[in-house]
Amino acid sequence: MKQPTHQTKTKSEAQSKAQSGTATFQKRGVTPKSQNISEWYTDVIVQSEMADYSPVRGSIVYRPLGYAVWEYIQAALNERFKKMEIENTYFPLLIPESLLTKEKEHVEGFAPELAVVTIGGGEQLAEKLIVRPTSETIMYAMYAKWIHSHRDLPLKLNQWNNVVRWEKRTYFFLRGMEFLWQEAHTAHAYHDESWRQVLDALDAYAEVYEEYLAIPALKGTKSTAEKFAGADVTTTVELMMPDGKALQGATSHDLGQNFSKSFNIAFQNVKGEQDFAWQTSFGYSTRSLGALVLAHGDDQGLVLPPKVAPIQVVIIPIGDDDQLIEQAQMQRAALERVGVRVKVDTREGMSLGYKRNAWELKGVPVRLELGRKEVETGFATIAIRHSGEKRSLDIATLDATLPKLLDEIQGAMFEKAEEMRQAMTSTVDSYDEFKKVMEEKRGFIHALWCEDPACETKIKEETKASTRCLPLDAKEEIGKCVYCGKPAKHRWVFAQAY
Ligand SMILES: [Zn+2]
Repeated sequence: MKQPTHQTKTKSEAQSKAQSGTATFQKRGVTPKSQNISEWYTDVIVQSEMADYSPVRGSIVYRPLGYAVWEYIQAALNERFKKMEIENTYFPLLIPESLLTKEKEHVEGFAPELAVVTIGGGEQLAEKLIVRPTSETIMYAMYAKWIHSHRDLPLKLNQWNNVVRWEKRTYFFLRGMEFLWQEAHTAHAYHDESWRQVLDALDAYAEVYEEYLAIPALKGTKSTAEKFAGADVTTTVELMMPDGKALQGATSHDLGQNFSKSFNIAFQNVKGEQDFAWQTSFGYSTRSLGALVLAHGDDQGLVLPPKVAPIQVVIIPIGDDDQLIEQAQMQRAALERVGVRVKVDTREGMSLGYKRNAWELKGVPVRLELGRKEVETGFATIAIRHSGEKRSLDIATLDATLPKLLDEIQGAMFEKAEEMRQAMTSTVDSYDEFKKVMEEKRGFIHALWCEDPACETKIKEETKASTRCLPLDAKEEIGKCVYCGKPAKHRWVFAQAY
């Protein structure tokens, strides 16, 4: 990762240039995506002002643009959680060490990346406190206190919070020391009910990726080696990025009775017998912002799907003509009445070219320029960010055409991402072919695998591709493992992953 000081300098230089009103925006530029996707990615995030490096190593600041996108995602997920009767709540940040060590597999999974508080109020603590890497343990200590009878079930709680994981290498949104997410934790009387919950949550995640972020989501289950520490089954939504690498979008876990037994979440069932609760947990994080940038961004910067764009239409009056500004404000009011999010850019001392580039960089879906000519003819040219297409629209009916156009853009962006994913998906039947695809274009590979973890490790060592998931809709297919030739009954999806 680049040094924060370097970034700060670049930023302030850019700002002073912007203030002086010279159109150097384009020159400052973003590294082309095709040239170096990781530099491009960082450039886009910092320069669009989605996020910035912070003085804390590996932790970032979510700037208003990035946070606003996150809020649309929150709203979409909250709406779906409410339908599932999941309630929002908040639990403490610090977890007593003794709680964290209760579930053996869980603590082993997280031990290397824990941040531990040993001093409080100037004194050595009698018991260390862990900064939450996730909240299973602290929540389940309370669940044990609250759940006694089948009448107390199901219990379905969610929290929107931050978690800390001591990552050695960090990357904007995708891997960070501290990130934002939601974590939901449910307890049920029956396993079929908890399993239904696991899948309902996964559906909600896939929907938000597809309908809001315009990214196709592949639903499946993780292999034993890739599952969550403490879960019986981990389900996942896997996304394909344009560079051929997969990104794990979100996970939903069937915890079985593993935690309820460790934490004594016991209840009296309908037959009057003691039983342990069946549990689930599921989380969706700000990694999704990284997926959004990677999936749609281009050499001009960010490209936001309308549903998560804080500004959907920017109107730029050409020149400092008061009448034009008034016209633009009237258009804004008309569009806001039909639910479109509009900004009128009236900043003075900046060229039209500078403003165009600035809004392109921030990924605003539609740009409308309003000059004398437009007002006289009654037609304005709009520019569509994701395709670069220009259209001439009747100014008098913009409040009818623009909402439709935004829907059209949302759909077209999904289609484009879906076409990319299909082009990046291969089915192979030999290991030579597997290696060839991984070297040449990467992407998702569907291949028969024997489900032996040793085999999975070898494939990963040799090709950097790991199992991403067994798709939920995979059919049984008797054949031989692509690596070792032992019997296999399913085609798993492999990919190199972020
Ligand atoms: Zn094998």
